[in-house]
Amino acid sequence: MLFDTHTHLTAEAFDHDRDDVIQRALDAGVDGMIAVGYDLGSSRAAVALAERCDSVYAAAGIHPCHVHEASEADFGEIEKLLEHPSVVGVGETGIDLYHDRSTGPRQRASFIRHMEWGRSTGLPVIVHDRDAHAEVMGVLDEFSGDETTAILHCFTGDAAMAEKAVSMGCFLGFGGIATFKNSAAREVVSGLPKDCILIETDAPYLAPVPHRGRRNEPSYLVKTAEAVACHRAVTMDELARTTTQNAKKVFRIH
Ligand SMILES: [Zn+2]
Repeated sequence: MLFDTHTHLTAEAFDHDRDDVIQRALDAGVDGMIAVGYDLGSSRAAVALAERCDSVYAAAGIHPCHVHEASEADFGEIEKLLEHPSVVGVGETGIDLYHDRSTGPRQRASFIRHMEWGRSTGLPVIVHDRDAHAEVMGVLDEFSGDETTAILHCFTGDAAMAEKAVSMGCFLGFGGIATFKNSAAREVVSGLPKDCILIETDAPYLAPVPHRGRRNEPSYLVKTAEAVACHRAVTMDELARTTTQNAKKVFRIH
């Protein structure tokens, strides 16, 4: 059994075949998926999908690239959604200075708000970091020492940043990039303690080799799992067992 800890199943890319995509994931042995919201609409849709599908769980939040179009009322509605029993995570949130530097301060304020929700609800916070390693680690530092758990999804930092994040109790998510040749993620993932590693697709984005460049979907998680198992020199069984255990632990799924 594999667990896809980060997927955007509510994205438009799946509008014509969402149920088939979920069935293919189940057939491939991916029997847990987190549908991650990126704005109010997608967070609500993730909750609705999780209510309908046993293997799907929801996360609610406002993605850093959508912060500029979110109203105060949207933030209030997201906070209410976090009380829903199908919601197992806060996010996605974080900082993205690659797509938009001008909204950096607003992204940071939103990220802090999501971290505070993580603290008040006990839910883990799913963090997006693009070209913002120092900024993201700075916010996580402010929250270290309390019980808020962060998941650095699609981890792209180096080994030193990984070590710091792990020492702060973070979980690190690895996706399709880990299957790319010359990816730094290969070396990072090979040296980590096994109890902090998660695997993910980030579907419909970032498809693993040999699907690179096409629409990604949760069933392709098998390819990423194979690559991570190979980099860590462990069997697929071992990798599947530990990463699924980690996913269930951090999202508190029994
Ligand atoms: Zn995402």
